[in-house]
Amino acid sequence: MAVPKRKTSPSRRGMRRSHDSLRVEAYQECSNCGELKRPHNLCDACGHYNGREVVAVGA
Ligand SMILES: [Zn+2]
Repeated sequence: MAVPKRKTSPSRRGMRRSHDSLRVEAYQECSNCGELKRPHNLCDACGHYNGREVVAVGA
């Protein structure tokens, strides 16, 4: 089995982990109903995308 030749230094370990943090998810207000929605996604609340109704919601 391959075994690392040297102990990983705190600096190297930190460099490796620099990409590990979770990012806050992006949210925007829907231009139709003002509800928060993910960018580039259909609005859950009103079914609008890019200024028109794509999916009929409830009612
Ligand atoms: Zn909406």
